[in-house]
Amino acid sequence: MNELKRMTVFCGSSENVDNHYFEAVEQLGKELAEKEIEVVYGGGNVGLMGALARSVLKAGGKVTGIIPRKIYDNVTHIELSNLVIVDTMHERKAKMYELGDAFIALPGGIGTLEELTEIFTWYQLEYHNKPIGLLNTKGYYDRFYLMLEHMVEEGFLHKQYMEPLLTEENPEKLVAMISRHSVPMMNKWKQDDISDRI
Ligand code: AMP
Repeated sequence: MNELKRMTVFCGSSENVDNHYFEAVEQLGKELAEKEIEVVYGGGNVGLMGALARSVLKAGGKVTGIIPRKIYDNVTHIELSNLVIVDTMHERKAKMYELGDAFIALPGGIGTLEELTEIFTWYQLEYHNKPIGLLNTKGYYDRFYLMLEHMVEEGFLHKQYMEPLLTEENPEKLVAMISRHSVPMMNKWKQDDISDRI
C-alpha cells in the first residue's frame, strides 16, 4: 500500500466493557503514536474512543476527531490535536473515510459495526482499496468473521471481497500487517468478473 500516514479508527463508545478491551486500545494508541501514524476517529470522549485518543496523545501522537455538531453539543471533550465539527453523521463518515489511508475497527457496538460494514461495502463497489483491520481482542470479531464466511459459502459475498480484511488480536502485529498489506482494486463492473460471481 501507499505510505501509511493516517489511520481511521472506528470504536465503541460504551464504558461498560471488560478491562482487556481498554488495555488493547491503549497498546494500539501507543503503537500508532510511536509509528507516527496520525489517528482519525469520531472525536468522542467515552469508552474505547476516549481511551484511544488519550493513549495516542499521551504517547506524543496526533489525533484528529470528526464529530457532528449534535454530539459535540452534548458531550465533554478531550483536547485533541485537531477537531472537525460537521453537520451530519454522513458528513462525518465521509470525512473519516477520505482522511484514512487504512482503517481499524476496534471492538464496538452497532455504531462501530455500521462504520465497518459501510467501508467494507465501499471496497466491493470499487470506491477504494484501503486495508481494513479488525482488532480481535478476546476473539471479539470471531462471530462476525464466521458470518462473513457463511455469506461466502452461501454465495452472497464473493471471497475476493474479503481481500482488504485483516484480523489480529495483537495491536502491534495488526498495525504491521496493515502497513504491509497491498489490496487490489476491485473490478466489479468488468463483465468477466460479474460472470465469475453468479
Ligand atoms: P457504538 O459502537 O455503538 O458504541 O458506537 C460508536 C459510534 O457512536 C461512534 O463511532 C460515534 O459515531 C458514536 N458515538 C457514540 N457516543 C459518542 C460520543 N460520546 N462522542 C462521539 N461519538 C459518539
